[in-house]
Amino acid sequence: MYGTRVAVLGAGIVGAACARELALAGIEVVVVDRGAAASATTSHGEGNVLVSDKGPGPELELARISRTLWPQVLAGIAERSAHAAHTVEWEPKGGIVVATTGAGAQGLARFAAGQRAAGVRAEVLDAEALAEAEPYVTREHTAALYYPEDAQVQPAGAAAALLGDALAAGASLRTGCEVLGAVTRGGRITGVRTSAGLLEADGFVNAAGPWSGELSTRLGAPVDVRPRRGDVLVTTPLPPMVFHKVYDADYVGAVGSSAEDLQTSAVVESTRGGSVLIGSSRRRVGFDDRLRPEVLSAVAAKALRLFPALAKVPVMRAYGGFRPYVPDHLPVIGADPRLAGLWHAGGHEGAGIGLSVGTGRLLRNLILGEPTVMDTTPFRVDRPAVLGESAQPVSEETA
Ligand SMILES: Cc1cc2nc3c(=O)[nH]c(=O)nc-3n(C[C@H](O)[C@H](O)[C@H](O)COP(=O)(O)OP(=O)(O)OC[C@H]3O[C@@H](n4cnc5c(N)ncnc54)[C@H](O)[C@@H]3O)c2cc1C
Repeated sequence: MYGTRVAVLGAGIVGAACARELALAGIEVVVVDRGAAASATTSHGEGNVLVSDKGPGPELELARISRTLWPQVLAGIAERSAHAAHTVEWEPKGGIVVATTGAGAQGLARFAAGQRAAGVRAEVLDAEALAEAEPYVTREHTAALYYPEDAQVQPAGAAAALLGDALAAGASLRTGCEVLGAVTRGGRITGVRTSAGLLEADGFVNAAGPWSGELSTRLGAPVDVRPRRGDVLVTTPLPPMVFHKVYDADYVGAVGSSAEDLQTSAVVESTRGGSVLIGSSRRRVGFDDRLRPEVLSAVAAKALRLFPALAKVPVMRAYGGFRPYVPDHLPVIGADPRLAGLWHAGGHEGAGIGLSVGTGRLLRNLILGEPTVMDTTPFRVDRPAVLGESAQPVSEETA
């Protein structure tokens, strides 16, 4: 593959992770973004690297691969730059899921049993152990589980560090450069028209996050990736009061739901700067980026049920972003069967930070024709959720 040129379209965390893997494998990589690196969804969410919220299946498998890769990737980044590794703010602090109703406790126990069968560590915390682990969490709980594998990063710092590795390995970055359309020859994409002129390459990776649908339409091979809005509250810096990533047991239901109307659940985590992030909501409202007071108060109300002590804490700001959503809740990773030379790496919804490094590895495996670290069939482009009615099965060789 030496001498091969690949253009990664989108410099969010997924594009950065793909660029890193490809550049380290010796491919000539150019990363293009219409904004700045990590300026879109990647800097508008939270940084949880979770296995706890995923049931058995391909997403959990990718999450576990990514969880194994993160420390390795970080070690590689640290070798290049200790400062870059520090800005990732990697915290393998574990997650705690708390149920506050009888039904919630039963659902959590069932969910965890399935996860354990798939190899996830999920430990029951009794009331005393929970109080010791999280002294400020509600005493009105019916069950709690500790997931030691859950971790956290600072997403923009992580994306910058991944991209920094790619650049150090010879990749280049063009910001303020919008991709407008494709140049094709004989059913193959050979270039993209951009706001800064023609960019030619042997392969192109659609890593445009929630705009993957729009970008792929411009390129002539549309995939069904849509925006799913999420909002987060940020407190002023506090003395330590949240020690793990803590969320309520309803969260898993909200993640798996496809409802268009508002879904909220409490997801609470401290950051290295001392602020506590309180998420989050899920709404399908297109790219409407207005903050809604009723959404923010619903998020706050759920958080107070979990952490009553937060009632006295000032909220310093709120922000929101658009998760890249695919109707079957699985990412799209692989070759486009309709347009040779086009690859997709997107649609990770609320898990793209955690899953980025596994996605980069899978994409590298596929582009280089290496054995893949897991079966990529569930993520293939030609599945009904991604291509709709026009989805046609293609053979493994072409996928
Ligand atoms: C509220 C909220 C909370 C979240 N919490 C978590 C969490 O805790 N853990 C987790 O793992 N995930 C979380 N996520 C999801 C995560 O943020 C996303 O899955 C991830 O950031 C997607 O990264 P990306 O690189 O695919 O997309 P993006 O970061 O959006 O990057 C895509 C890039 O493509 C560029 N682009 C688009 N169109 C074009 C074009 N035509 N030409 C050139 N460039 C283009 C954009 O400018 C952008 O920079 C959360 C998301 C939200 C909104």
